[in-house]
Amino acid sequence: MTKQLQAIRGMNDCLPGDTQIWQKVESVLRETVAAFGYQEIRFPIVESTVLFKRSIGEVTDIVEKEMYTFDDRNGDSLTLRPEGTAVCVRAGNQNGLLYNQEQRLWYMGPMFRHERPQKGRYRQFHQFGVETFGMATPDIDAEVILMTARLWQQFGIQDHVKLELNSLGSNEARAEYRDALIAYLEQHKDVLDEDSLRRMYSNPLRVLDSKNPDVQAILVDAPKLSEHLDEASREHFANLCERLDAAGVEYQVNEKLVRGLDYYNRTVFEWVTTSLGSQGTVCAGGRYDGLVEQLGGKATPAVGFAMGIERLVLLLQTLECVGNIRRNADVYVVAMGDKAAIQAPVVAQQLRDEVAGLRVMVHCGGGNFKKQFKRADKSDAVVALVLGEDELAEGKVTVKYLREEKEQITLPLADVKALLAELVS
Ligand code: ATP
Ligand code: MG
Repeated sequence: MTKQLQAIRGMNDCLPGDTQIWQKVESVLRETVAAFGYQEIRFPIVESTVLFKRSIGEVTDIVEKEMYTFDDRNGDSLTLRPEGTAVCVRAGNQNGLLYNQEQRLWYMGPMFRHERPQKGRYRQFHQFGVETFGMATPDIDAEVILMTARLWQQFGIQDHVKLELNSLGSNEARAEYRDALIAYLEQHKDVLDEDSLRRMYSNPLRVLDSKNPDVQAILVDAPKLSEHLDEASREHFANLCERLDAAGVEYQVNEKLVRGLDYYNRTVFEWVTTSLGSQGTVCAGGRYDGLVEQLGGKATPAVGFAMGIERLVLLLQTLECVGNIRRNADVYVVAMGDKAAIQAPVVAQQLRDEVAGLRVMVHCGGGNFKKQFKRADKSDAVVALVLGEDELAEGKVTVKYLREEKEQITLPLADVKALLAELVS
């Protein structure tokens, strides 16, 4: 027997039972950002490797060990996109969307990272992201955060996610803090693990992120980023907090929140849940005023976030907040006899034309009456429409209830339409 082929580890199929939830989640995401006036942008899945190296940073998990990088047939180094921000900036620069303009954009699609697959962590996963450009003031930081808060409300999970917030300050302030942190870490080298030692000089802020409890223990007395913030960043952060307070969005300032990517400055935030085990970050973002210029554009302030759709779906399922899922068929059309079978799709088409939103499935694959009814039962439909030759000649059809004890009725087609319209109202 031929061996069955398998998907790549960490890259999952999304099967019909789940696609309904995904579609619903996607439509809530789309509608919510549309309600804030954001526009969709779509960009390629494959980009030049240098784009990610230059933006995300060489000494980051993503660039060091997670990218799917390969040479194409011309020998160019390409990478499956591990995230959207850098690509969005590349696209914005290339198409003249950013310079001297304000943009509020969103995107959604697959991302690729070679990580150890586990619940909430995959090698192909999906992000929904928002990127704004051209606005340097904290009102836009607040807007994107309020937008995420509104999303949790739309999904009914607002009590299960918490907002963590921090400011990384200006590049200069961070450089100053960096030196202070390195000096402190040098005194505790014996406690640092391999990863932290390696990052100590190249990306010391990432040491704050360490999951190692021994490293965390020495960090308690480490110099604080907040003590090194520049005045302008301090004001920016205070104003953001004031806006969140005014909107009733609760948050926790987490001084150790530095984010894994190099391009952030000032505001950084994460929405975390305790309901998903260790993969608890559902959404993460911040300000990245330097990235546009770093990628060859004119200096343009920017703020954005990305959320993991798999984690969001898992959370909705765990909390049983999926809500009503629209059944994929309302009516199942069966036919008695060849002539009626020819008419079945014609009648179905009329129903779709005249009853807005009605989902009509027509039996295919042949078989006797019993078999057709078995299929009707197995479908999602709540009624079967039975087309018989004699009845059709009189313009009538029979409605048979599939999910409740109710007498079947034979009616003129026009009356059936009214009856079905009620089904979807
Ligand atoms: P983590 O700390 O969990 O690795 P990250 O900081 O690498 O997350 P980001 O690059 O900020 O994640 O991506 C934004 C969001 O995308 C994350 O908060 C998470 O919800 C989701 N995400 C990131 N990596 C994965 C993955 N491998 N599988 C599923 N979702 C992911
Ligand atoms: Mg990661």
